[in-house]
Amino acid sequence: AEEVGGGDKEVVREYFNNSGFQRWKKIYGDTDEVNRVQRDIRLGHAKTVENTLNMLKDEGSLQGVTVCDAGCGTGSLSIPLAKEGAVVFASDISAAMVAEAEKQSKEQLVASENGSAPVMPKFAVKDLESLDGKYDTVICLDVLIHYPQSKADGMIAHLASLANNRLILSFAPKTFYYDLLKRVGELFPGPSKATRAYLHAEADVERALKKVGWTIRKKGLITTQFYFARLIEAVPM
Ligand code: SAM
Repeated sequence: AEEVGGGDKEVVREYFNNSGFQRWKKIYGDTDEVNRVQRDIRLGHAKTVENTLNMLKDEGSLQGVTVCDAGCGTGSLSIPLAKEGAVVFASDISAAMVAEAEKQSKEQLVASENGSAPVMPKFAVKDLESLDGKYDTVICLDVLIHYPQSKADGMIAHLASLANNRLILSFAPKTFYYDLLKRVGELFPGPSKATRAYLHAEADVERALKKVGWTIRKKGLITTQFYFARLIEAVPM
């Protein structure tokens, strides 16, 4: 697999272990300490997670299905997946994120009334380039934004190589409207400006998948005022 250029990846790791961790933990959490923009992003992201779960469940029960959640963050997807009976392997480049995801799993994945407890996700601090093994499904939500298109191809190829049946990805689509918003954003950088963000054209992602023999089967678009994500499900051709 192709590596994200040393510099970039170190910056991303450092950010998500420190200020980025604090910022995104708030956004992905449920407390009131978020501003209007963060609340909007929280809503958009929650929709992405919900759409992902629906895409998965459309194809049948998740009971016993093995899922790799690459770049799991605070566990927003891993936890509901485990509740659905999936066998989840969750990892993130940030140790802080993984610790938080693990903590939240312990709090939220408790035994139900009939006494059956969901299987806890297995967690690891790992960048996705060093993931290996095979899973029924590989999912990578809102991580591509940290990859320029030149590195995204290798990242997509690697994730596809880990998946037997399907790969679900979300990314910020490179459309005129969103490009414009981003430019406006760059004119008014807030105090907690994220690391550099990369947008991706759907055609580029589709081409990267095609190169390794995968094709897009389903897609969705999630938009709120400040959050834009293209969600795709790919399968082997
Ligand atoms: N997928 C989660 C979700 O949707 O709730 C988290 C999304 S968050 C915007 C991006 C996450 O990707 C961060 O937790 C960050 O640490 C992780 N990340 C960034 N680059 C990564 C890499 N190369 N390998 C693994 N994780 C990475």
